[in-house]
Amino acid sequence: TYVVTENCIKCKYMDCVEVCPVDCFYEGENFLVINPDECIDCGVCEPECPAEAIVPDSEEKATDWLELNVKYAAQW
Ligand code: SF4
Repeated sequence: TYVVTENCIKCKYMDCVEVCPVDCFYEGENFLVINPDECIDCGVCEPECPAEAIVPDSEEKATDWLELNVKYAAQW
């Protein structure tokens, strides 16, 4: 799965939301999140993010943020 990280905070460009083929972006507290259960790992959103906030979960900084992505995605 891909994970939205801190650069997204108060960004909300929404470019990622528009390209995601499975609509798995959700509104978090002050940033967007990806629901890891729905993300198909296509990678299309990563280069679309102007803030470079979207990273694959294989990246180290993703681990700190995965939990918040799960938490906020679950609210919908
Ligand atoms: Fe959506 Fe693909 Fe990005 Fe996952 S990797 S959030 S499926 S655009």
